[in-house]
Amino acid sequence: MHLLDAQVLDVFASLAISAVPVLDLNTRAGDNAAGVNAPSFTMNEDHTRSSVYQRLLDVQKAKSGQLQFSLNTLATKVLTCEGEGGRPKAYGVTIAPGASLPIASTFTGKAELDLKNITVRREVIISAGTFQSPQLLSGIGDTEQLSAHGIDTVVNLPGVGANLQDHDEVCVIWRMKSNYSLFNGCTFGSDPTQDPCLNYWENIGHSNLYAFGTSFDAITTKSSPDLSAPNVLTYFAPAFFRGFFRGESSKQTLYSQQLICIIFYLDRVCTRDRG
Ligand SMILES: Cc1cc2nc3c(=O)[nH]c(=O)nc-3n(C[C@H](O)[C@H](O)[C@H](O)COP(=O)(O)OP(=O)(O)OC[C@H]3O[C@@H](n4cnc5c(N)ncnc54)[C@H](O)[C@@H]3O)c2cc1C
Repeated sequence: MHLLDAQVLDVFASLAISAVPVLDLNTRAGDNAAGVNAPSFTMNEDHTRSSVYQRLLDVQKAKSGQLQFSLNTLATKVLTCEGEGGRPKAYGVTIAPGASLPIASTFTGKAELDLKNITVRREVIISAGTFQSPQLLSGIGDTEQLSAHGIDTVVNLPGVGANLQDHDEVCVIWRMKSNYSLFNGCTFGSDPTQDPCLNYWENIGHSNLYAFGTSFDAITTKSSPDLSAPNVLTYFAPAFFRGFFRGESSKQTLYSQQLICIIFYLDRVCTRDRG
């Protein structure tokens, strides 16, 4: 399948959207370019979708005993000591095996935690997501805010947690007037004997629509010509998608041959909205 499918280009033209190819939307140069490319997603050299999850399992298998996961474990604190030049240095984390975040479905209320310290030889990497990463920094942040919560300051760093930004999203769904060749033979089912596209993808080649994630094209545009960089990102997908609902996301993403969805992530590139 070609990214610049002629029928899809027709759709772009009817929307007066520039379909100039941007070489790589994921580069710094791509950040400021207006145009079209496939959205980035991870796949291996065989065009099979892959993930960090799979990579970690592979590494664990290949390096027996060297990579350990501590599942169902809450990290409660990053441990710091005085490092070079008096600067604080992270030397470990405190964890509570079996405990959950208060927002998790497994959280059963406040309890005395069974804490354990894990120390490191090299570095501590925090990847607890948008909300919990700043929380875990344990005393690294804005002194004023930290002291309001009774937390001693390790480093006064007012920027921590201050850049949370909203990414508003609008979804437009069209019922296509004609059958698009892009979807030929694709029933978006799970049985390759009933779905020619799935049969092709599984047994012959990974180069049809199914090689993509949900979306097959992403376009960056400016909402005003005065802007120095694009501020709107539009995704195109063969999907009927009405948005995210707790516990309902899989039911909402129903594919159909005649439906295509546009998602506008307003201000995603140079967002100014604050939560
Ligand atoms: C509704 C929605 C739709 C999205 N759609 C897309 C998309 O289509 N494409 C795309 O590329 N991105 C999408 N994103 C963004 C993407 O999900 C995030 O950028 C990505 O998940 C960030 O990965 P992360 O590992 O940094 O953090 P997260 O995925 O948030 O992972 C952090 C993990 O740390 C755990 N954690 C937090 N605190 C602690 C603690 N104290 N102890 C132990 N564990 C802890 C959390 O439970 C979580 O499992 C979407 C995000 C949302 C919310």
